[in-house]
Parts: sequence; C-alpha cells; structure tokens
Amino acid sequence: MTDTLCPVCQKSDRVKVLSLTLQGGTDFGVWRCGRCRHIWRTEPWKVSNQITYYEASPPTAKVMEALSNKTVKVFEKFLQLADKLKSNPTRLMVDFGCSCGTAMLMFKKHGWDVLGIELLPSAQKVLDERNLPWASSMKDSGLALRSVDIVVMSDCIYYLADPVGTLREIRSYMRPNGMLFLRHPTRAGLFYVSLKIMRKKVQSFPWGSHVHLFSRKSAELTLKQAGFANMKFLKEEGYERPLRTKIIHQLMRAADFISLGLLGLTLSWTVIAKE
Ligand SMILES: [Zn+2]
Repeated sequence: MTDTLCPVCQKSDRVKVLSLTLQGGTDFGVWRCGRCRHIWRTEPWKVSNQITYYEASPPTAKVMEALSNKTVKVFEKFLQLADKLKSNPTRLMVDFGCSCGTAMLMFKKHGWDVLGIELLPSAQKVLDERNLPWASSMKDSGLALRSVDIVVMSDCIYYLADPVGTLREIRSYMRPNGMLFLRHPTRAGLFYVSLKIMRKKVQSFPWGSHVHLFSRKSAELTLKQAGFANMKFLKEEGYERPLRTKIIHQLMRAADFISLGLLGLTLSWTVIAKE
C-alpha cells in the first residue's frame, strides 16, 4: 500500500508497487491500481525529460513518416467518420501529438482546416517543412474554446503525465457535438499477466518510452473523468504490423474472448468519444 494516487481513478486504497527493478532498476518504479487496473511508471518521466530523451537522438523525418504510415488505414477510418459528422460548418480538426502530420495532410486534402499539437522540436521542424500549422499546447494554439469539430489522438495518450487533465482540457476546446478519435494500445492486462508468470524476465517489455499502460477499464474511466459520456470501443483494424506481431495480436484477442475479457488482454483499440 502506498499514498500514491492512481492517475486515473484518483484513489490510493488499491495502489500497489508492482516493481522497482524493471528496466535496470535505476530509472523508475511501476505502480498498479487494483481498482481500474491501470499501470504506470513514476518519475523521472516528466514531459521535459521526455523531450530530452527523444531529442538525445531525434527521429528523422523518414522514421517519423514510417511510424505514422502504419496508422494510415486507421486515419482513413477517422476521416470517413469525420466527413459524416453533421452540422460541422467549420470543419476544424486538431491532431494532438501529431508527429510529422500524416493525419493532418489527409484531412487537409478533404477540405478540413487542421492544426497539430506537438512538443518535439524534431517533429515541429518537419511540420514547418510541410507547411502544416502547429502549436506546442492547446493553450498556445490560439484556438477558441468550443471551436474544434474533430480531435485525433493517435498513439499519444500513454506519454501524457496527466491523461485525465489533458483530455479534459482538450474537451473544453471541442464543440459540443465534436468527436474525439483515439487510437492506442491497452497493454496493462498483458503486462500484469506476463509479470505474474515470468517475474523478472519481463524487464523493459513492453514499455518503450511509455508512461502509462492502460487497461480497457482505465481507458474508459479516463475518458469519463474528462467529461466524455459516449464512447465506442472498436476492435482496432488497419494498423500495419509485421506478420509475427499480427499473429500475437490475433492470439491475444482470442485469449481475451475466451477469458471473457476478465484479464483485459486485448491489445489495442480505436475509440470514438463524444460528450
Ligand atoms: Zn485506478
């Protein structure tokens, strides 16, 4: 038991230290909340440290593009849904954590006004080269509250220091009938089960530079806490993966189905959320 609050449900009574020795034991501890099954790691992963981490060997435009291109089919689905949105005379789309702007280019082609929110200087440089407008935060964007029709957040939520607070801020910029499109993995179940089975062998897997591992429950709760009342979790389709990873995903889905979702093993989702 710790005094640490779960960053999602804001309770501390079922928060436990999972491990203090992962990833070499030097840089972070791992906490888990038994209420919402959220798993997260502690400092020093502040936003400023993440920038330092990435900018130590900044990804090239090519690497960013290759990563974004894996999501093109998911973006196409977002665009189809956005184009169907009724009463959207402004057609304003914000891509939060836009990287090199792949989704923005697609929306722009369909007549949308676009704005990217991006923290990393290396990505900002690529956005400038592509003549895509960006800001480093919602506050600095110059956008009016209640003005945005569509917000895309793809593979970004797990980097945020405060996912609930950030989504709440994003919602305040969205029109009441606007839609948030989220694409992200929910790896908490797999991580927890792996840790129980393999103990120390888990090591850094599957953190990468992520701060949060969401469960489906904590993903839902994060959106609810941020004021989104209607949400649809769709089986994520179209994200481009190598064959081996594709097979693992299919096996995980089958295991999740067989275990009636109790272990939360499903790996990734496309989420559509509205107020
Ligand atoms: Zn919690």
